[in-house]
Amino acid sequence: MPGAPLPADEDERLDALRSYDILDSLPEQAYDDIVLLASALSGTPIALMSLIDDERQWFKARVGLDVSETARELAFCAHAILTPGEMLIVEDARDDERFASNPLVVSDPSIRFYAGAPLVTSEGAPLGTLCVIDRVPRELDPDQIAMLRALARQVMAQLELRRSVAQLTKAALVNEALQKQHVIYQQQLEEANESLRTASVTDPLTKLMNRGAFEQRLDEEYDRAHRYGTELSLLMIDLDDFKAMNDVYGHSAGDSALVKVGEVLADGTRGSDSLARYGGEEFVVLLPNTGAANAFLLAERFRSAIEETEWDKRPMTISVGTATLSDFVQNRSALVEAADRALYEAKAAGRNQVKQSAS
Ligand code: GH3
Ligand code: MG
Ligand code: MG
Repeated sequence: MPGAPLPADEDERLDALRSYDILDSLPEQAYDDIVLLASALSGTPIALMSLIDDERQWFKARVGLDVSETARELAFCAHAILTPGEMLIVEDARDDERFASNPLVVSDPSIRFYAGAPLVTSEGAPLGTLCVIDRVPRELDPDQIAMLRALARQVMAQLELRRSVAQLTKAALVNEALQKQHVIYQQQLEEANESLRTASVTDPLTKLMNRGAFEQRLDEEYDRAHRYGTELSLLMIDLDDFKAMNDVYGHSAGDSALVKVGEVLADGTRGSDSLARYGGEEFVVLLPNTGAANAFLLAERFRSAIEETEWDKRPMTISVGTATLSDFVQNRSALVEAADRALYEAKAAGRNQVKQSAS
């Protein structure tokens, strides 16, 4: 017995069916209720919500029948979807050449009567039917036909709702994932910004504050000292005979020594002081709330700390010039220049010593 021919737009119809994601889903009350109503209003023992898949009809809801699917070629509903606009009514299948030899007619469940209202999407694709079946020939009156069609529309309304909810849920999940991703990007951006900020104020070799950052700190501390009349001193530090270190032991040994000098100086620096690498082998320390005498003592402590450190290649020493804001040293560039002059004097006097600028 040949099955029903395929509808003209079979591929599109199957795509539409798949879009509802309903095949092989679990039973749902809404559809169970509708087939129950269909059976009751038609007075038939069997009512089905049948969906026509590629090679089978699958029942989303059923009363009076124990199987959940049949082969498509046996399906009355496969004929019903060929005319989506109207119901297929077969009063006695034995009298209809399409069905007379159908195994479902000839043997169990011995179908005689069939009425199927197509389930049609808003785009016109017939997905299957809401159908009622009896084992004896019968008819439906116009009211029953109208109610069956109304129930078929209710099935479609449920299916549309179901699909909308699924789409919204999916969209909500995608949205949530996007928001999480956004938070991650934001964090990465902040981390990148933070490391850029750090890099922009840090000397890459010694990891001390760089000269640019130091100039800014000097501005701030000068303003504060000027405003509140507090003391401010500065130490200019230069490694002695450092050129020889490079010449004899190489540049990378020189680099290591510079890093170590930075560490020794950092060890001796208090929290409120600012230590920076000022240039090649020059360091600078800014000392807020510190007068000339204490600046000299601190400088002397740095000098002896460097001298007493154990050095890999050769002994290292520093010369230090100190300067303090005073009647003679009245602005920030004068402070730097005065410390520079004192440093020059320390070098001229034989190195490894501290000189205080005249104040
Ligand atoms: P002085 O006691 O008069 O300061 O003598 P000096 O040799 O230390 O002074 P000079 O200015 O002649 O030489 C400074 C040397 O410091 C020269 C330069 O190669 C070296 N130097 C500057 N920056 C770096 C650096 O980043 N790494 C290394 N390895 N050497 C550096
Ligand atoms: Mg030097
Ligand atoms: Mg120098």
